[in-house]
Amino acid sequence: MSDTSQAPAPILEARGLNKTYGHHTVLKGLDLSLARGEVVALIGPSGSGKSTFIRCLNMMETPTSGTIRFRDKPVGDRFKDRGDMIGIGTLRRHVGMVFQHFNLFPHKTVLQNVTEGPVVVCGRRRREAEEQAMDLLAQVGLAEKHSAYPNHLSGGQKQRVAIARALAMEPEVLLLDEVTSALDPELVGEVLAVIRDLADKGMTMAIVTHEMSFAADVASRVLFLDQGVIAETGSAEDVILNPINPRLQAFVSRFR
Ligand code: ADP
Ligand code: MG
Repeated sequence: MSDTSQAPAPILEARGLNKTYGHHTVLKGLDLSLARGEVVALIGPSGSGKSTFIRCLNMMETPTSGTIRFRDKPVGDRFKDRGDMIGIGTLRRHVGMVFQHFNLFPHKTVLQNVTEGPVVVCGRRRREAEEQAMDLLAQVGLAEKHSAYPNHLSGGQKQRVAIARALAMEPEVLLLDEVTSALDPELVGEVLAVIRDLADKGMTMAIVTHEMSFAADVASRVLFLDQGVIAETGSAEDVILNPINPRLQAFVSRFR
């Protein structure tokens, strides 16, 4: 049964994704179809393959087999587009990613961190990139921190800068991998508020998170990944609030 038969063409799709490290098969035939404006949450125990899966979605990790499709075209293994194949460079340019550990440039200011991609990768004029960056910093509530260095920011502020930096590339899809897991509990809310705002504005997102109530609230669909397979998928109501799979029941009960 396909979940795409009636729906509009998905913007990002994984079909039969497998990933093996040595003798260890980490992803076992995963499918995912992300429609424009859709927010999907990926939950599951540590080691279940969540990071590997979303890293495959923008080809930061090369799947052992299976395909990624972007704008209804297959993604090839070359950097550049070729014929009908989307290049990895194009995919990464349009599918942004935010990580658990911010990965900001420590020797650059907040503003420089946000303008780096547009100026260096996209060849945008610095002046123009700075104007856009200031708008984005205002959107994440950090306009007044534009000339600060990352070391002088809280974890929550760093993560909001990292989100602004990803947005500066004007991604069509944003992948978020446990972006609040490294934060002190009192800083989690300010980052989730920024993500919720993006969801409200129609950003297409796949979010790996352990914040169950946030996932239930923001995601139209939740996938439970367990031992490299999607063991359950459905609405947040079904997956998080009324789980059937016993391993999922045990998993979500840890967050109650
Ligand atoms: P999760 O994000 O759900 O915690 P990961 O995708 O990070 O899970 O990891 C899934 C499994 O793949 C784990 O068993 C992990 O040890 C293994 N793994 C991840 N990356 C690598 C790698 N580069 N080399 C070998 N094994 C890896
Ligand atoms: Mg992970």
